[in-house]
Amino acid sequence: MTLTGELLIGAARVPATAGTMKALNPATGELIEPEFAFGGPAEVDRAVRLADEAFDSYSHTGLTERAAFLDRIADNLEAVKDELAARLALETGLPAAQLEGEAVRTAGVFRKFATVVRQGRFLQATVDPAQPDRQPAPRMDHRLQKVALGPVVIFGASNFPISYSVVGGDTASALAAGCPVILKAHNAHPGASEIQGRVIQRAVAEAGLHEGVFSLVRGAGNEIGEALVDHPLVHAVTFTGSEAGGMALFRRAQQRPDPIPVFTEMTSVNPTFVLPAALAARGAEIGTGLVQRAMYNVGQACLKPAILLAADGPGFQELRDALSAEVAKAAARTMLTPGIHDAYVRNAQRLENDGATRVAAGQAPEGLWDGQSLLYEVSGEQLLAEPGLREEVFGPAVLLVRLTGAEQLLEVARAFRGQLSATLHAEADDRAHAQRLLPILERRTGRIVFNAFSIPQEVSYASTHGGPFPATSDSRFTSVGMGAIERFIRPVTYQNFPDDLLPDALRAANPENLWRVVDGELVKD
Ligand code: NAP
Repeated sequence: MTLTGELLIGAARVPATAGTMKALNPATGELIEPEFAFGGPAEVDRAVRLADEAFDSYSHTGLTERAAFLDRIADNLEAVKDELAARLALETGLPAAQLEGEAVRTAGVFRKFATVVRQGRFLQATVDPAQPDRQPAPRMDHRLQKVALGPVVIFGASNFPISYSVVGGDTASALAAGCPVILKAHNAHPGASEIQGRVIQRAVAEAGLHEGVFSLVRGAGNEIGEALVDHPLVHAVTFTGSEAGGMALFRRAQQRPDPIPVFTEMTSVNPTFVLPAALAARGAEIGTGLVQRAMYNVGQACLKPAILLAADGPGFQELRDALSAEVAKAAARTMLTPGIHDAYVRNAQRLENDGATRVAAGQAPEGLWDGQSLLYEVSGEQLLAEPGLREEVFGPAVLLVRLTGAEQLLEVARAFRGQLSATLHAEADDRAHAQRLLPILERRTGRIVFNAFSIPQEVSYASTHGGPFPATSDSRFTSVGMGAIERFIRPVTYQNFPDDLLPDALRAANPENLWRVVDGELVKD
């Protein structure tokens, strides 16, 4: 595919109106061809209006047709996976093989959402039939199903440049729900964004859908993101990135005359608790495994196990030694952008300023924006006293916390803000301790992992990628897994309707053969 650098607005390729940029190869510092167009509020308006025009027809596509469209995106994505991975390797410094795997897994996510659509359970079709003879008053017929919210704005993330970017899970779940998507491309990988955008643009045309189902815009600075969030025809926003960026967009959306939901996924240190018997039995093994997971994607992962907590005692030294050895041998690797690299260096220094001791460092950086792996240590007392030590350092750093015992472990657990995940390593002798820790973790996180690591992430029906603030802005929802579709739908009740005016899912004959809740019972009637 020859990259043109244009914006993708519906079926059109639109040239720059607000300047251009080139992609940066963070491994070499070189700029890469071609020029990529920036748009402004006029292009935002055009894309959102098209999405609004597309909404009525797209949100009413039959389940079979919509599922086929999602499958088509998956096929088109797989067809360009080599080219996409090669371009992305240049734009991100990440290994091409890893990126190819990400493309294949992401195609799989679109296919899973196609299944979700075919199953139709997300509609939550519910029927309370009329009871004309009910005493003391008759009941009218009530039928409920979920409907799509409207056009959705998705901010592509920098760190997983396929699975959280243009063709990522946010896009898959919004399209599955029946919402047209306006994608704000991340400027860290403009070429790869264009390839992914054209994959969807082509699928829209092949499926014969309204062109406004998908647009991709790009801009300089905050203006374009603000215009998207402010646009009166936008009904929801998703975002993965920094707490500052996410909260700026969230607050902006709440200040609209008609506030809209903004689902932000922002920051998490994913604390890992090692209980005493587990520490004694396999401290070294846990240390090695943790560093390997923490360094995945050069530590630029929302699920990175950034803080490891254990009480001093049998196994602690083995844990510490294994962490040190694994960190020491890690090569410094290119980070996604100069800005993310510089923030990493600054935040690692902040840990030191806040009193953390540097225990080990990986191989020295060679490239300008290489991230050096780092291991720090603090006491439980320090972690409790200094909130900054409990904040994310985005990049390949791990913080070991040496606790005084079981009570301090519980106290420290209570001090954490909301998290995407927390992990527990425990043996049979740790059961009583684990039972005290679990309710504390449940209040603070969307996922609790037992004797394993939260990376790799499963994209499935039981996945939760969410959690209390600041992990996300709304802990009731997940941004990964089949449940992600829930962010883009809302209930409508049809009261006393004639059958021929009802949506298919609610008709007496149940033509889609869906599971429905009828008078409180789940049935396929
Ligand atoms: P970011 O700075 O939060 O930006 C993400 C996206 O939002 C970009 O497209 C950005 O546009 C846009 N944006 C941010 N603030 C905005 C505002 N006030 N108004 C309008 N648009 C806004 O994230 P990033 O560039 O990916 O990385 C920066 C830092 O975010 C990292 O160092 C890391 O700390 C954190 N991060 C965390 C995670 C995680 O999963 N926990 C993932 C990625 C990043 P522009 O680029 O055009 O400004």
